[in-house]
Amino acid sequence: MNDHQPWEFTCKTCGGHKLTVTRVWKILAGLDSERWQEWGPLEADHHWHYEFKERVKEWVEKNPDDEVERWDFDEYTKDDSSSKPEEYEIFEEESDPEGDEFYVNCASCDREIEFGWSQPNRGGGIFPVECSDFTPGEIWPEPRYIDSWHKKHWLRTGDGQT
Ligand SMILES: [Zn+2]
Repeated sequence: MNDHQPWEFTCKTCGGHKLTVTRVWKILAGLDSERWQEWGPLEADHHWHYEFKERVKEWVEKNPDDEVERWDFDEYTKDDSSSKPEEYEIFEEESDPEGDEFYVNCASCDREIEFGWSQPNRGGGIFPVECSDFTPGEIWPEPRYIDSWHKKHWLRTGDGQT
């Protein structure tokens, strides 16, 4: 352990030592939605900075209901709700921090590493579970991993000792 790098990470798959933090978010503009991501290295103090940013290319989510609804309409004509006009004149740009997705990956082989936060509500630093200073029970899990951590008994316990 030294002052510059208080924790160590060694990828069990490729032997790499660096981690990449990626944030993915979605922008809604009318019927269009775009996904963007930015990423950069996790640093020794468990914070990170983004070095790259790009739009995520993904298949276009065409509204499949357009076709389907016509067929359904014949079958469910009694259902008044299906004849409601569609709300299509909504142009809101939405940036919802709660909807952001964070990922930590091995910088060498891109393997996803589970991680948590040193403070609730995604506050503080990022603590990947495979780092040497990760302490189960003291880290708030990234919401995506709550189930996984629950099974591992890594969740912070409000009461009761194990
Ligand atoms: Zn790796």
